Amino acid sequence: MRPDYDLLVVGGGLAGNCLALALKDTGLKIAVIEANTRAQLEASPAGDRALALAAGTVSVLEGLGLWQGVSDKATAIKQIHISDRGHFGKTRLSAQKQGVEALGYVITARDIETHLAGQVAQSAIELLSPARVVGLMAGENEINVSLKRGEESLNLSAKLLVGADGGNSSVRKLLDIKQQVIDYRQTALVTTVKSALPHNNTAFERFTASGPLALLPIAKNRSAVVWTRTDEEAEALMLGSEADFLGDLQRCFGYKLGELALTAPRRAFPLSLIRAESMCRDRAVIIGNAVHQLHPVAGQGFNLGLRDVVQLAAVLTQAVHEHADIGAADFLKQYAAARLKDHDRVIGFTDTVVKIFSNDWLAVAAARNIGLTVLDHLPAAKRMLAGQAMGLADYLPKLANKG
Ligand SMILES: Cc1cc2nc3c(=O)[nH]c(=O)nc-3n(C[C@H](O)[C@H](O)[C@H](O)COP(=O)(O)OP(=O)(O)OC[C@H]3O[C@@H](n4cnc5c(N)ncnc54)[C@H](O)[C@@H]3O)c2cc1C
Repeated sequence: MRPDYDLLVVGGGLAGNCLALALKDTGLKIAVIEANTRAQLEASPAGDRALALAAGTVSVLEGLGLWQGVSDKATAIKQIHISDRGHFGKTRLSAQKQGVEALGYVITARDIETHLAGQVAQSAIELLSPARVVGLMAGENEINVSLKRGEESLNLSAKLLVGADGGNSSVRKLLDIKQQVIDYRQTALVTTVKSALPHNNTAFERFTASGPLALLPIAKNRSAVVWTRTDEEAEALMLGSEADFLGDLQRCFGYKLGELALTAPRRAFPLSLIRAESMCRDRAVIIGNAVHQLHPVAGQGFNLGLRDVVQLAAVLTQAVHEHADIGAADFLKQYAAARLKDHDRVIGFTDTVVKIFSNDWLAVAAARNIGLTVLDHLPAAKRMLAGQAMGLADYLPKLANKG
């Protein structure tokens, strides 16, 4: 008997919806299962987080036709200014010097999530929401999925199930895939500020003794703040008054943008590194945050997740062209093998940045300051950092001859 669907995608967030949309013209029968209603997702404070998208990510979204309808809500990053509070090192990256239009773009998560959900609603992709996956059982030709929709229970089958259900993935747990977790004991504080001086499309990344502070340029001369503090400091900053919070933020950032004023509520996101020990198992594969939840210091989470989407969509499209079974182990293994190196590289890079820049021990501080100062004078090293920031690390040789 034919399964109910070719592909069931669990999680209608950034990764899940991008994957479903990337495959919408393949002829596959696809459904997205999302635990929350659209209204709940749009009201969620998590939607306030600003995402820095690498230029490479935006090119991919453009290629999928998913950027055109939302690009007016994004702000281009033309410069990146990296500095170390209380120390001398700093470096600047410029789109103009790298010979590119922008080093990246900043967009509020809610804006891009809402846009993608709208695209899903206009397509033939089915949306099962609100519904949660509560059980999985793989057979030889299909995977059986038990869902809870309020009080109602539902059983569906598909050739392949993709878990794109975020850092706390139920699919990962139901597949019994083990995970490594590093609790950084840090919390990201997220808000928006308006500055007295124009940001001129500059993203600031300032490293402080207790963690990094990023100000990302957004519309109307506002900047999205992602401020990482220890859990204890973050709790005190959340419990204290807005005036105390702003005072601390201004002291930490300085006056490069003049006086800052808060224009949005403060939100807190506890931070940990979660990495699944494998990406696939019997007719199921996990992608995005379900496989790797990163510290936001280097802004790599969705950038990495979108590369999962692109690779998986390519493997599944190839299977469709070959009239093959999209849930066959060979395709899933091929996908997992292709993604491993990128995961290792980005997770290693992010974890190193967290450790080096959270440490105020004098020798480490001196080393990183020398590093930042040297970087500011070495075009090749700067190109590498810019390449990482733009998600173009794999294409660096092509940039090598640009100033
Ligand atoms: C403060 C902060 C700043 C960040 N900054 C950046 C940045 O600058 N650049 C960047 O690239 N990344 C950034 N990230 C990371 C980025 O937000 C994530 O990588 C991205 O949202 C992950 O997308 P996802 O679709 O994999 O998971 P999610 O966004 O978590 O989506 C998962 C979806 O699955 C649904 N779901 C969960 N459980 C179930 C279930 N059992 N059944 C059905 N549905 C379910 C959820 O409701 C949700 O809609 C940041 C993250 C944080 C916290």
